[in-house]
Amino acid sequence: MTLANGRAYLAIPGPSVMPDRVLAAMHRAAPNIYEGDLYALVDSLWPDLKAVAGTKGSVAAYIGNGHAVWEAANANMFSRGDKALVLATGQFGIGWANSARAVGIEVEVLDFGKSAPMDMGLVEAALRADPAHRIKAVLTTQVDTASTIRTDVAALRAVMDLVGHPALLAVDCIASMGCDEYRMDDWGVDITVAASQKGLMTPPGMGFVWFSDKARAATAAADLRSPYWDWTPRADGAEFWQLWNGTAPTHHLYGLREALTMILDEGLPAVWARHECLARTVWAAFDCWSSGNPAIGMNVADAAHRGRSVTAARFGAPHATRLRQWCEHKAGVTLGIGLGMAPSSDPAYHGFLRVAHMGHVNAHMTLGAVAVMEAGMIALDIPHGPGALAAAAAVVAAGAGG
Ligand SMILES: *Cc1c(COP(=O)(O)O)cnc(C)c1O
Repeated sequence: MTLANGRAYLAIPGPSVMPDRVLAAMHRAAPNIYEGDLYALVDSLWPDLKAVAGTKGSVAAYIGNGHAVWEAANANMFSRGDKALVLATGQFGIGWANSARAVGIEVEVLDFGKSAPMDMGLVEAALRADPAHRIKAVLTTQVDTASTIRTDVAALRAVMDLVGHPALLAVDCIASMGCDEYRMDDWGVDITVAASQKGLMTPPGMGFVWFSDKARAATAAADLRSPYWDWTPRADGAEFWQLWNGTAPTHHLYGLREALTMILDEGLPAVWARHECLARTVWAAFDCWSSGNPAIGMNVADAAHRGRSVTAARFGAPHATRLRQWCEHKAGVTLGIGLGMAPSSDPAYHGFLRVAHMGHVNAHMTLGAVAVMEAGMIALDIPHGPGALAAAAAVVAAGAGG
């Protein structure tokens, strides 16, 4: 029998759960893009987008996904032959490096592997090895969605300052914006990229690049900048069409308006604390499951280096795939595939999965996902240690209080 009928829960790290309020806001006739209400709505988005990123700088919006804003950031930051230093803690850092290399940027990659945080000593050494300051920008992820490693962005900035290297700092927050604490200005970040479909709770199709005044000035002559990707008219546009370099993403704008209202009404500190608590709920369950089966474990050993929006884990092949399929087909919870751990043609691929706790999620969804995973382990005879559900409930109880 299946128990999957009822409301399904897509617990993959993007696209994330769409709030009904966001969907309802989008359900309308096409608006006039030449005048009218849409203009005021769009004016209201910019301060809120800046608030979510923690910046007083500028923001440019693109009709595109995360890959699009990687390219947007590259095009605005670099000239052909400029050098980038990419600090990779998983597949997405490598992805940004590849997108830069493909357009003629010289890319040096410091690859910290698939489950370790970056080694700040090696970052310092790489910056010191560049006394001529050829590195124009340092590119990294706040949370790499494949490994679920979280980078301490403030600590990275401190290393750059210690060395006195003038490179710009550019951070991919696609998996963490609106989930993990992020303070672009306070942490000295020059460029931030994010997309609509993860913590920002809006369908895939919009991406954002925030940039500081320093980044604006330092990149004014970047020759990879083409009219479509140029962030200047998108951020400053005197005419409405310039904000999008063409037709506005009309319905996304209504959805985004509602999502930003939801985030700011809850309050960013509360949003971050909710993600932290729900992440710890999942982690508590894993700690118990692993205690009875060492093949089960979280990818990132130290909680301090784990993203709060998604948790990568191993179950021993083929059990991760078996468990994912059971959870989806028998219980209506779709878990994420393991990404970047093994090629899909390798049997080892079936040993990895990810649990998202990103965006529009609450205690009953996360507790439900954890309980469904345990039911699947029982049904599929996957050995696991006891006590996970009680431990998960205790984290929720402690977080929510009386
Ligand atoms: C999802 C994601 C991307 C890619 O975004 P797309 O919308 O799939 O192009 C890039 N970086 C990170 C950290 C992500 O989580």
